[in-house]
Amino acid sequence: MNESCESRHIACHHCDFISRVPELEPDHVALCPICDGLLAESQHKDQHEYVLPMAISALILLALSFPFNFISFSRQGLVQSIKLLDATEMMLQYGQPFLAALINLTIILLPASIMVFILLQQLRIIALLPSSAHIFFTKALFRAKDWSMPEIFLAGVLVSLVKIVSLAEVSIGMSFWSYTGFVLCFIFTLIKLDKTALWDDVSHHGKFTQSYTSMRAIDVDLAVCSQCDILTHQDQCPRCNSRVVVRDPLNLQKTIALTITAALLYIPANLYPIMTTVFLSNSEPSTIIGGVVLLWHHGSYPVALVIFVASVMLPIAKLSVLVLLSWVVKKRPDFSRRSFTVAYEITEFLGKWSMVDVFVVAILVALIHLGGIMEVIPGPGAFFSQRW
Ligand SMILES: [Zn+2]
Ligand SMILES: [Zn+2]
Repeated sequence: MNESCESRHIACHHCDFISRVPELEPDHVALCPICDGLLAESQHKDQHEYVLPMAISALILLALSFPFNFISFSRQGLVQSIKLLDATEMMLQYGQPFLAALINLTIILLPASIMVFILLQQLRIIALLPSSAHIFFTKALFRAKDWSMPEIFLAGVLVSLVKIVSLAEVSIGMSFWSYTGFVLCFIFTLIKLDKTALWDDVSHHGKFTQSYTSMRAIDVDLAVCSQCDILTHQDQCPRCNSRVVVRDPLNLQKTIALTITAALLYIPANLYPIMTTVFLSNSEPSTIIGGVVLLWHHGSYPVALVIFVASVMLPIAKLSVLVLLSWVVKKRPDFSRRSFTVAYEITEFLGKWSMVDVFVVAILVALIHLGGIMEVIPGPGAFFSQRW
């Protein structure tokens, strides 16, 4: 039996309360007794049998997403086909290099790097690297995971398709199906990804001879490493060498400053056109709200609703929750901690979904440029929208 099979001390990410969590049975989770936050979850017994084939399938399907047609669009005898990389190429042509880089990173480069890492990790090649490289790649994996959005891009494609279907005939190519397969394998592999096991691969930590339970980590001078999650008394994490701070004294100020900046950027994101549709030399700029109203008038109720919720409601809801949580941290009212934990978790989960409209614009811009007949051009709203 190695150390990972014994119980370990885990501090709750939400309320800092330390619990001693035993080795979990398959399919079990450990919840914080104070706020019900998730402390640890066990994986399926047979997870390792699936992870390797899934990661390999994801990489093969991603490679097959490049050479063929992604979507074709035809109107009045003119046909326009795009491949997966055309969206970013068009963004570059329209002078939006930042958007182009962001799209390539979030839908291709980072998800592919994650799959390569998991492949090498499952084949035990990562473990052969020097410890510093092992730590570097494990940290990079979790950073890359936060910025990977292939499933949101796919949702953007579907929203765009419903919009385009009303304008012209649309056909779906081989690359679209390959990319959809890639997204499914990617999500499945990530669901099976066990953060604790990956870090235990680097080294085992989390055991203390003294029993720190029924108290907050901060009260016994312990802090959680923000990268690899272990509890430590030291300023530098003994496992991953990251700097460990008990509390960032400026956390609240930083959150409030970023929330205000986001709220300010929300204004131009909605006032400026997110894209301009040129049809027979008539330019029609459309803002997010304008687009929603137009779609509603054209009877595309589901698309109008999806864009309204993802691009208008979600940002307002997220900003309101951030204001509320900042107030809670400052004033510490005597309300149920559980409800705030849930609010935080939902906001964190929904965070990426506001990117849907940026992807929708990218796809429409790439797809619709039929000579002088019809063209979609990205507007300044898209620039602000992906910054807040
Ligand atoms: Zn808790
Ligand atoms: Zn660490």
